Formats: sequence, structure tokens, C-alpha cells
Amino acid sequence: MARFNMQVIKRLPTQLANQIAAGEVVQRPSSVVKELMENAIDAGATEISLNIKDGGRTLISIQDNGSGMNPEDALLCFERHATSKIDAIDDLFKLTTMGFRGEALASIGAVAHISLKTKRDEALTGVHIKMEGGNIAMNEEVVCSKGTLIEVKNLFYNVPARRNFLKSDAIEFNHVEDAFLYIAIAHPEVSFILHHNNQAIYNLSAANLKRRVTDVLGKNAGDRVFPIESETDIVKLTGFIGKPETAKKTRGSQFFFVNKRFFKSSYFNHAVLKAFEGLILEKTHPTYFIFLEVDPAKIDVNIHPTKTEIKFEEERFIYSILLSTIRQSLGMFNLMPSLDFELETAFDLPAGFNKQPIVEPTIQVDPNFNPFKPQAHSGKSNGFSKGIKEQGFGSTSPKEADWQLFYSINETPLPEQQELPGIADVQSVADLLLVGRYIFTPVKTGVMMIDSKRAMERILYDECIESFVKHPLNQQMLLFPIDKPLEKQEVRIVSNHLKTFEQLGFNISLQEEVLHIFGAPEILHENGVVQCIEELIDRVEYSEQHQEDVAHSLVLQMVKHAARYHRISNKSEAEMQIQRLFSCPDHTLSPSNEPIIQILAFEQLNQLIK
Ligand code: ADP
Ligand code: MG
Repeated sequence: MARFNMQVIKRLPTQLANQIAAGEVVQRPSSVVKELMENAIDAGATEISLNIKDGGRTLISIQDNGSGMNPEDALLCFERHATSKIDAIDDLFKLTTMGFRGEALASIGAVAHISLKTKRDEALTGVHIKMEGGNIAMNEEVVCSKGTLIEVKNLFYNVPARRNFLKSDAIEFNHVEDAFLYIAIAHPEVSFILHHNNQAIYNLSAANLKRRVTDVLGKNAGDRVFPIESETDIVKLTGFIGKPETAKKTRGSQFFFVNKRFFKSSYFNHAVLKAFEGLILEKTHPTYFIFLEVDPAKIDVNIHPTKTEIKFEEERFIYSILLSTIRQSLGMFNLMPSLDFELETAFDLPAGFNKQPIVEPTIQVDPNFNPFKPQAHSGKSNGFSKGIKEQGFGSTSPKEADWQLFYSINETPLPEQQELPGIADVQSVADLLLVGRYIFTPVKTGVMMIDSKRAMERILYDECIESFVKHPLNQQMLLFPIDKPLEKQEVRIVSNHLKTFEQLGFNISLQEEVLHIFGAPEILHENGVVQCIEELIDRVEYSEQHQEDVAHSLVLQMVKHAARYHRISNKSEAEMQIQRLFSCPDHTLSPSNEPIIQILAFEQLNQLIK
């Protein structure tokens, strides 16, 4: 049979192999920035200038004044496993360069258009090469200055899945900025420039580490950091630590470097936190820029290109050195708590947040509370019973007599004009039936059907709209504060409406272009907070433009969101919901005027079965 002779294993074409490799190396624009900046550093550049367009999706351009390449190398550099940095396996263990895999340019070339201009110092002319679809599309002699200019255009033009996976330009640019800082902080002797859409973001002149750190942190940062230093046979530690009172609610400026390579380590971060123990508020994060120097043979360099974790042979020892060095410096530089109260940091901390208990923001339901069976009610006040009380339904533990009253009303014939169903129509709560998002219950004239999602919208809306005008809605602190990068336009909207968001029950602060969310309205599910904020930002702008009632529009948007996460999962919850619904004056219509209740009359039911 021919099939058995058929060869099934084939060598992947180079372009395809490179594209697959690119999947690992190039995940988003910031990965390109990282690779190209590392190459420039490895080439000994002292000036590196980056130009980004549209978060990097349209253009990433980097000019360096490093060694440059001769025309042969300039062609070779796009081949996979082409590197000038290692010759033998042993080199891996004494690595001092940033790159060594020889994969980056080949990978980037497989998923973007690249233009490369490069010239070595001693050469009279340089070379201009263009790569498209993994092929050389141009190779010309060119007059240019010493060094290398690489332009990466239309990232993922041929990989739609990757392209679609990219986030907004603002978010992509945030990653680019991180990648830029990881390298710029580690190389203060090199000057760096970063532009985004022709706007200067950083202009860092060659300096010492303290100057670089303060340039990165911004104005007046000089008094906010102090140095750390220690040296043992195993590790040399240097760097800067933020004063305890500058610790932030969000992890902003925390940088570890080993042999000038940025890495993340929750283990070492723990050592830092431990050193700061008692000096900073719980759940705040100290600023640090910590540099470790260790024998390259004692760390695992064979790391994944996009991973920032590094394995250390003497991890535990380094942990304790880190802890004691920072403690010692804290003692030396910070014997007394600083009195110069810095506004900026004070602003970071939501007022009194350390006093507030942190509660999971869920709608709390007392499973034992059954309004239809008063004896089962524990008397504990919870979200639901409180709501009922405030809406004037009466006692949170209805007495048997109340129900008898309802039933007796039900016995008496309803006045002709009364068409709207009410609680009195509910014949027997034991007969509630949950089907999908609907609650069914027999009534005198047939079956009442309640849309529980719309009912929830009505209940929450009535609860919220009233208090919204008077005081901020109930808030829950988030277990994990959320950082949400915003687009420029969103920044403007949020800063114009900070008060409104506060009224809605959010605890937020806006810094640069990042929204820090510390607390959210009680009625929201934690998983929905970010999306809800996005919707509200859209909504507030729209409502103003269209002169809608902003309060109504925002509260409506929010309760719709909250109701989305709401599920009725058992009869007693359904019963409670009915209770709360019928205590709303407008219980037949949702706040966006959709019907909540429908009665299937016996006549209609009879029709159905015919
Ligand atoms: P690696 O950095 O792992 O060696 P790359 O694909 O990033 O692999 O680069 C391949 C080679 O191209 C490098 O080893 C280096 O010789 C050369 N190269 C890349 N970028 C530059 C640059 N900016 N200046 C000089 N040479 C460079
Ligand atoms: Mg490289």
C-alpha cells in the first residue's frame, strides 16, 4: 500500500520555522523593543533613540551609535541561530551580553517588515537591507552614520491572530515603556530617548545610577530614595530604595536586575517587604531599584526569551543578604519617620483604607433567611433584608399574620381595574419554579412569569438611584487593587468626572494614564469591575453629549452590569427577590422600561395545548 511508503516528516520551510519561533520571541510590540534595545546595548551603543507609532503596531524605530555591522553580517543577522555572541557551549556560562540565541531578528523578520541601515566605524559606506515576508527585498549601499537604524513596521501583518490579540495602543505602549525602562535603568551610562507618536516621553541623558533612577521617577524624586550597598563573595548589591512613606498602593516602581538584566522575583520581593515590615502600611509596595551582581555561572541564563524569571543557585543566601542590607540602610537613613509629608504619596492612599476591613465584593445572601417562613429568619441583617427594610416593605422578619393577610386578599376577588400583578397574586410560594432566568409561580388567573434579571435591575436601580443623589453608594474595597491603563481620551473623561465615580461607589485614583481602582460599588461583582468602569466612561460622555439625565443613565448602566452577574440559584433566593421586587413602586417594568412580569392566563394556556 502506497500510504506506508509516503514520507510524512518534512522539514519546515525557513519562513514557517521562523514564524513559529517568532510566536515565542515576539508576543507584542514591547518584545520587539526589548530585543532591539538589547542588541544596541550589546553593540556598545552610548546613545539609543526609540521612536514608536501607535503603541508599536505601526512602527518601532531604533537608532544606535554602536558597532554597526559590515554588509555580510547585516545579511547574516536575519538568519536563525545567527549570533556574534557565543561560539561554544561554555560561553553560555560566562555570558555578559544580553542576547545570545541569535533568534530575535529572524523572528521579527518573519512577522513584520524590517528596514536595516548599518555602518561600521571604519567603513566608508553602510548597507540598507529590507526584509519582507522573511525574504531580502532590498540590499543596497547607503551613506549613513556609524551605528544601526532598525525600523520594524506593520507588526504581525501576516499573523492576524496575533494582531487581533493586541490591546489598545495605550496598553501596548505601556508595555513598550516598561521594556524601555528595564533597559534604560540598568544602563545609566547610556543616553536614551523615547518618543511615542512624535511626543517626547523620556529624554534620559547619560548619568550615574542615582540620577537615572530619579529621572525615571520624576520631579523631586531625589529626596524620596536612599542607597543600599553590600558586598559578599556571592553577591554584590547596589541600588536605591524608596523611603517607607513613599510606598504605594500599587506596585509601580519595583525593579530587580541581575548583571544588568531585569528580572522578576516574588521570593526576593518578599525579602524587601520583610525588611520594610512595620514601616509601611499593609498592602502597600515600596519603591526599589535593586542591582545584583553574581557570577554568571551561578544563574540560569538559558531562560525563555520572554520570561523575566531567573534561577539563582544561591537564592536563599541572597534572600538573607537582601533582607539585612535593606534593614541596615533603613536604619541608617530612616531612623525617624520623615516629617515632610508628601502630597503625591498621600494622595495614593485612599483615605482610611487601612482601617477598612477588606471584604469580598459579592452580594451577600443569607441562605437561611426565608421571608415566607419567618421562623427561619436568624434576625441577622444582611444585604437583602436591609434592602427590604429600607424600601419600606416593613419588618425584616414578616410575621405569619402578614402572609395570612396577603392570602386573604388573594381570596377576595380583585377589583376589575387592577391589572398590575402584585405580591398578593402569589398564591403559594411553595410552588415557585425556577426555569433559566425566569421564576414561575401560580396565580389566580394562571401562571405568573418573572424575569429575574430584569427584576434585579429594578431592585438595584431603586436602591441606588435614591442614595446616589445624596451620598456615595456602598463600597467594597477590592482584595486586589486593579490598575487599568487608560487611553488619553478616557483620562480626560475620568478626571472630569472623578466626583461622579466616587458617588457611584468607586474608590479610584488617576495617575499619569493609569486608573488605580481600590474599591468598587458593593453591588458589582469583582470580576466585572473593569468592564463596568469601561462602560461607565463611555456612558458618561455620551449622556452629557445627548443631555440625558446623567444620574439615571449611569446608575442604570451600573445596575445592568451588576444584574448580569446575578443568578437566582434556589427557591429561597427567588422568594426573596419577589419580596424585594414587589416592594418597588414600579415593579412591573425594568428601569429601561422592559416588562419584568408576565401573566400567562388560563385562556392562553388552554390555547397553547390545543
Ligand atoms: P542575538 O542578539 O541573540 O545574537 P539577534 O537576532 O538579536 O541575536 O541578533 C543577531 C546578530 O545581529 C547579533 O549577534 C549581532 O551580531 C547583530 N546585531 C543585531 N543588532 C545589532 C545592532 N544594533 N548593532 C550591531 N549588531 C547587531
Ligand atoms: Mg539580540
